[in-house]
Formats: sequence, C-alpha cells, structure tokens
Amino acid sequence: MIIFDSDSRKYYHAPLMSGPDAVHRLEDPFAFARSGNSLKGRLAIADMPRLWDRMADTSGTVEYEIRGRVDPRQRPLLELEIAGAVRMRCDRCLDQLEFPLKLASRVLLLQPGAAHPDDADDPASPEWLEVGRVLDLQELVEDEILLGLPYSVRHSGDECSGRADNGRIGAKASPFSALASLMEPKQANKN
Ligand SMILES: [Zn+2]
Repeated sequence: MIIFDSDSRKYYHAPLMSGPDAVHRLEDPFAFARSGNSLKGRLAIADMPRLWDRMADTSGTVEYEIRGRVDPRQRPLLELEIAGAVRMRCDRCLDQLEFPLKLASRVLLLQPGAAHPDDADDPASPEWLEVGRVLDLQELVEDEILLGLPYSVRHSGDECSGRADNGRIGAKASPFSALASLMEPKQANKN
C-alpha cells in the first residue's frame, strides 16, 4: 500500500532533459536552433503507442540527440539523431529480432502559418515543421521513427528459422532498405 501525505508533495521530478524522467519538450525551439545548443533524451517504445503495431514487443528504448542549427540561408533548423534497438518481427519466420535503429534527419522550423520553404520539393532539402512556442520532442521522435522504420526486416540467413517463401520484398520500396539489407546479407542467394 502506498500512502500519499502532504509531505510527499514537496518532491517532484526536475525537468531533466535526459533519462527516463525527462520532460520531452523543447521550449522556444527557434531560440534553441539559433543557439547552436544540443540536448539528449531517452524514450521508451512503451511510451510511443503509434509504434506498437510495428513492433514485436514494446521493450526497446531509443536515445535521441537534437542539435540547433541554421542552414546556409540562416533558416533555423534542428538536426535530429535517433539510435537504439527495437524488437521487430522477422518477416520470414515471424520470430522476434532486435533491429538496430539509427536515423538522422534535419527539420526546418517554420512559424505557424508561415510560407512553406521554396525548396520544399528538393529531395536534398530538409523536412519542415510548423512549431509554436513549445515543441513536443516525443511526438517528433515518434514521427521520425515511423517514417524511418523499414517495411520489412528479416534475420540473417543463419539465424532465421523460417524459409524464404513468402515473397514479401517490401523493404525494397523503403528509402531505408539499406538498413534492412544489412540484416540479411545472405538473403540474395536464398531463393
Ligand atoms: Zn527469421
């Protein structure tokens, strides 16, 4: 049994920007971008429900690092790196596998209602995001992982208990298929 009394209210979690108790919010993201500062945090897959149906279980964690920058045109942007290990399901045998997640992206910051970047159609230009006074980093990290996860992952040949017979090659459609193929270096000769 846990008893809360008035004394316990003196204690609260300080808003540390890393660790499991972090408050994953960025106050004034425009100032942060121009400051050149960086911050790190850690998020559990269990706290990002939009990822759950892509995972074999919700046990993994990811670390993120956000760095403030301006681009050559002096536009504020954030560089975001995400790394961790998540448990996905092998597309061939349906057993679990640990997938090493490593993502990097750049996000231009726009004031709400601002004109979209004139180079938005250029594949080499950063993504962009309308943000207000506070940026929800958990939502941002969750979005980036959703975009970055491969459609399909497989064990490497030796580790897989299944047969290469289901014909699903969805990973080839993903811009991150290089990551998926790292997981299955012997796959090309399996069929
Ligand atoms: Zn497998």
